[in-house]
Amino acid sequence: MSASRVAVVTGAAGGIGRACVAAFMAEGWDVAAIDKVDRPEGMPGRWYARIDLGVRTTADRLRDFFAEVGRIDALVNNAALQVSKSIADTSDAEWAAVLGVNAAAPFVAIREALPYLRKSKGAVINVSSVHGLATSAQIAAYASSKAALAGLTRAAAVELGPEGVRVNAVLPGAIDTAMLRAGAEDRRISEADADDRIASLASRTPLRRIGQPEEIAQAIVFLADADRSSFVTGTTLVVDGGAMARLSIE
Ligand code: NAD
Repeated sequence: MSASRVAVVTGAAGGIGRACVAAFMAEGWDVAAIDKVDRPEGMPGRWYARIDLGVRTTADRLRDFFAEVGRIDALVNNAALQVSKSIADTSDAEWAAVLGVNAAAPFVAIREALPYLRKSKGAVINVSSVHGLATSAQIAAYASSKAALAGLTRAAAVELGPEGVRVNAVLPGAIDTAMLRAGAEDRRISEADADDRIASLASRTPLRRIGQPEEIAQAIVFLADADRSSFVTGTTLVVDGGAMARLSIE
């Protein structure tokens, strides 16, 4: 069993996930990383499991992995799938896949981590999105999944609070990762359009830029750390450079 606090991070091979692993390790935590892809070259962290969180066997795989790790002080549900399509073009399978990875898998991970979280009086951080609060066209499945995750955050916080387990959500705005770029590419109408779309996002954000993965990681570590956020539970922390504060019809 580890003497250091242990953070489980899903989607750990992605932009925000990797920043999260680095931020936890910089503060002396051990990290148990999960992603559907192989461990990226040079990625630090004590444990790594290649688990596809979108399949029926997820619960069994998570149960085995958590038993191997033996301790969980923070569970970061960060993995996600984004499909940028109109409602007319989104298939049943795509809807189920997005809801499966983004909402069902965090529920299963919380359930399977519960014995360890109860013991450590640990914390869950669900990485939702500003799309859980306000959204755009061509992203219905993703927006629905992120709103579901905010609901799960509140329900779990209410149910687990009496046992000392805190549950919060971080809602990133536009962050410089592969997911943001892929979303812009999917909606582009010309070669330069993806870059233009990202530049336009930045120019309409009050802080006049998109965010960096490290800025989301800092919010996640804050919510994981019982010394710093001991009375914070059931909340949604928006980290978006002010985007949600701005009236869209101004
Ligand atoms: P990313 O694409 O860089 O990383 C996502 C990671 O999740 C990838 O490593 C991917 O392999 C993993 N993943 C996807 N499906 C999986 C599955 N079935 N099983 C296991 N792992 C799986 O994206 P990111 O921007 O780092 O996203 C991290 C989180 O932040 C996501 O929850 C995303 O919805 C949220 N978010 C991102 C932005 C943004 O602008 N980048 C904005 C709001 C919210």
